[in-house]
Formats: sequence, structure tokens, C-alpha cells
Amino acid sequence: MSNFSQEIKKKERFDIVLIGIPFDEKSCYLRGAAKGPAAIRAAADERAINWWTEMGINLEEDITLVDVGDVDVSGDFRDVFTRIEESIFSILEKEGIPLILGGDHSISYPILKAFSRKFKELDVLHFDAHPDFYEELYGDRFSHACPFKRIMEEGLATSLLQVGIRASTGEQRANASIYPVKVIEMKDLGKISHLKFSSPLYISLDFDAFDPAFAPGVSHQEPGGLTSREVIEIIHSLEAKIVGMDLVELNPDRDPSGITAALGVKIVKEIAGKVAMDKKMRNG
Ligand code: MN
Ligand code: MN
Repeated sequence: MSNFSQEIKKKERFDIVLIGIPFDEKSCYLRGAAKGPAAIRAAADERAINWWTEMGINLEEDITLVDVGDVDVSGDFRDVFTRIEESIFSILEKEGIPLILGGDHSISYPILKAFSRKFKELDVLHFDAHPDFYEELYGDRFSHACPFKRIMEEGLATSLLQVGIRASTGEQRANASIYPVKVIEMKDLGKISHLKFSSPLYISLDFDAFDPAFAPGVSHQEPGGLTSREVIEIIHSLEAKIVGMDLVELNPDRDPSGITAALGVKIVKEIAGKVAMDKKMRNG
């Protein structure tokens, strides 16, 4: 594996499928997240990094990661959401683990629609500064501030654990309170590791969950967030079967030195390594 994007497309057997969704029409403030997938792929340059993970996995040998390019995001958003759902479902049908590069956070709703067709039970771990639990924002029910309200009201997930939250509102707390949602707010964080999930686990990571010192390349910078190390430790110590992940809201326009994109590559590597490690353990 060199750059993700130079890999495959034609391999029959794979573990992880990288797919980009360059869509940011549902952003309520700044656009730019559509450039996220390209920025992460560009940062995954083998002249800059190697493919060994912190857990001792060699991603070039221990796992097959393929990059299938981007979903077509032209046209009306309803058509785009349908294309997103079908693209993700086709990966799941082939038993691949989708690793999705956004895009703004609105895409998690059609993504989870696809997952709910494959998985009867699904736990969701959501890293974000924001709950994204509005009924609507500025009259839009599909805004990037609303996906988890849609996901829970439609029963697309069995449970939702939100980590890193530090910009909630009374309305969003009330909206979440009627669903199986747990929140670990930043102010109560302490040290968390070894999060355990009984159902297959989907992870949704909004880059603004990180402190802007670690990830300035986001549209809604919210100080007081997670460190890179905290998120990596949570990933390494997860006790769960990971079946998919999205990394959303990277806005390269606000990432002049590329450190947020580099963090994206790091998270992709460590998640892929975690999946490979768990597979090794299962297979003895
Ligand atoms: Mn956010
Ligand atoms: Mn979000």
C-alpha cells in the first residue's frame, strides 16, 4: 500500500474499504469539508509516513485495505444520500469494513441507513464537540447538526455513546434524553479507555472532537477538546467488533500546515491496525 488512492479497485478480497464522500452542502457555517477526502489521501504519502501502526501491525501485509475512490455527490442531496447509502451497502454486502472520509457530518445518516440494513443490532460511538442532535437547524432536518436525531428516531442504531461533547444545548439534551443515548461530556471526561460494546460497533468521528490545538482544520473550532493521544488510546483499547467508521468535518481551508489531515491518516492507520489486530486475535 502506498497512497491509499493508488491501491486497487479490482481486488476480490479485502478487509477495509476506504471511500470518500466529498459532500459539504449541509454545513451550516463554512464550506470546505468536501475537500477532506483529497486532503487525507494527499497526506497518506509513503514518503512522509510508514505503514506500521503503533500496535505493531504492518498494514501492507497484515490487512487488505482498498480505496474505491469517491461517491458521486452531484445533484440534489436526496439523490446524493441515496447514492451514499447504496455505495456503503454494497461494501457491507461484500463483508468489507467501510472507512469513510467525509464530507460534513450529515453523511452519517445515509451511511447508518445502509448499516441498519446489514446489522440488526449496532452500537455507535460518536466523537464530537457537538451532539448533532437538533430536530432541525435553520429549517433543515438534514443539516450536519441533525444526523444523530435522525439516526436515533429511525432506530438505525441500538445505542449511541457520544464522547467529547462540549457545545450542547438544552434542546439537544432534551432531544437525546428519550433515546438510548449516553454522553461523556468533555467536562466529565477523566480518563476513559476499554470502552466495551456488545453489538457490532460503528464509529463516527467529527474532527472537531479534537481540541483545535491538535485539529485546527475544522469549520467549528471548539476549544477544550480531546487530545490526539486520548482518541488513539480509546481506539486501541476498544472491546468491540468494529464494522465501520467515518471521519468527517475535516476542512482543509483551515488546515494550513496539514496537521489535521495528518491526524486523519494517523486515525485511519490506527483503526485499520486495530481491526487487523482483533482479526489476528480471533483467528488465534
Ligand atoms: Mn462537531
Ligand atoms: Mn458533528
